[in-house]
Amino acid sequence: MQGLMQDFPLTITHLFNRAEKLFPNKEILTSLPTGKERTTYGAWAERTRRLGGVLDDLGISADGRVATFSWNTQKHLELYFAAPCAGRVLHTLNLRLFPEQVTYIVNHAEDEVIFVDKTVAGLLWPLLGTFETVRHIVVIDDGGPFDTSDPGPGKQVHDYEELLAAASPVDWPAITDENQAASMCYTSGTTGNPKGVVYSHRSTVLHTMSAMFADGVGIRETDRILPVVPMFHANAWGLAHAAVAAGSDLVMPGPDLSPPALADLIVEEKVTLAAGVPTIWMGVLPALEGRDTSSLRLIPCGGSAVPKVLSEGFRRQIGLPIFQAWGMTETSPVATVGSIKSVYADLPEDELADIRAMQGLPLLGVELRVVSQETGEEVPWDGEARGELQAAGPWIARTYYNDDRSAESFTDDGWLRTGDVATVNPEGYIRLVDRTKDVVKSGGEWISSVELENEIMAHPAVAEAAVIGVTHPKWQERPLACVVVKPGEELTKEALLEFLDGRVAKWWLPDDVVFIDEVPKTSVGKFSKKDLRDRFKDYELPTT
Ligand code: ADP
Repeated sequence: MQGLMQDFPLTITHLFNRAEKLFPNKEILTSLPTGKERTTYGAWAERTRRLGGVLDDLGISADGRVATFSWNTQKHLELYFAAPCAGRVLHTLNLRLFPEQVTYIVNHAEDEVIFVDKTVAGLLWPLLGTFETVRHIVVIDDGGPFDTSDPGPGKQVHDYEELLAAASPVDWPAITDENQAASMCYTSGTTGNPKGVVYSHRSTVLHTMSAMFADGVGIRETDRILPVVPMFHANAWGLAHAAVAAGSDLVMPGPDLSPPALADLIVEEKVTLAAGVPTIWMGVLPALEGRDTSSLRLIPCGGSAVPKVLSEGFRRQIGLPIFQAWGMTETSPVATVGSIKSVYADLPEDELADIRAMQGLPLLGVELRVVSQETGEEVPWDGEARGELQAAGPWIARTYYNDDRSAESFTDDGWLRTGDVATVNPEGYIRLVDRTKDVVKSGGEWISSVELENEIMAHPAVAEAAVIGVTHPKWQERPLACVVVKPGEELTKEALLEFLDGRVAKWWLPDDVVFIDEVPKTSVGKFSKKDLRDRFKDYELPTT
């Protein structure tokens, strides 16, 4: 017997229609070099429908790829909806990828048009000649000084506002197949070329709903959301779609992601929810000191492990610890969140801080398993046994776009192999021990670089720390701590090792400590261990 409910396709058009009908007076603010621009969802919706007309006028093919090279702005949000609602596929390009990677992904995705913010046009222009399928470049004037008049042979350059003014608003075509592609995003590719993930309308809508669960991120109409996490990286963690679906106000930070600028936006615009990677919050915390942050209710953070000391720093200073989430480009991206189960509700703050330092519980809709690399079986839920974290669910990728490397990333029964090593505690909380490639392999045992970093960063003189494995003649690898000392503070190797003594097992103690000016960051602001490994690949550890 079949159910007798309507076969109603889950499409991004449905999210758009809600905002247009129910929340036309809610605000979208964008902070630009030229000042703050404010608009409403009503005005945004009208422009987004015109943008649908622009895609028709430019002759973009039925499922043509519409690329963006853009900051978090209202106009990027227009593209976020116009492309999929008009049946095209949005392709967000990461502004901070190496030039040859940008060329690779533009050609691999076969982008037909690129919408580019003028402030970053200078990064794109030298590459235009390498783009094989791009016919149109549309410049969004966000105050950048770059001269965009000459795009070179085979490409036409247009002005975003001129195209919009000349186009007519469209009625969206009916999207009958919810599994149709809506958008693409490439992983930031720390090794090899980036891999393409293709989201469907259905996966995006379901992921959006999960962001609105009370035990998810709990996005709601009364929120004023500051997505610091870029819209070019893993869908701004779903916040752009969820804000539109919920009718939340949006505070878009534009190009200036400096701590003072973000702190000003939080305070002046009474932001309720602000999301970004840990390195962002490390900078913003001091900039918020002594200011009115009473509007804030949630600070979602992920992309790399949230140091306990950072979360506790927020709790002590503003009364709100960080809310950790885990995910990947391949998981849309949110798969777990650090909500606190009722069994933990009465724990003292320092023990709660340990729960918050875990990556949390899978969202409804996501299935996770931690599989022992030795036995191939799921590990027991004892918080100790480690294995590879694997994921399944309606917003988890089942393969990469046209990529031979897919075979090694998915199991025979179709689960995503995340490349993360994790444990599960008796309540089902996931704790990431490390990325498979970052774990320090000392003899037959593993040392978690993440846990060591957490303990090192707990030292009051430490600003940032990253631990890498360095070749060792006897143990294969031993940990090297790369430490940035806070301005005005002093720290020696001996003092740090003494501090760590008793906090970690003796055989985990780093064999050496190097003091560096800054931990190199990846294109999305994570610690780049690959760069550190390259820098210290011939490092000779002391022999005693
Ligand atoms: P990239 O692989 O290029 O960094 P992603 O943003 O997709 O791109 O990264 C996903 C990875 O980031 C995860 O596999 C995991 O290693 C790491 N990560 C994400 N969230 C967390 C978190 N809360 N704690 C620890 N690591 C995290």
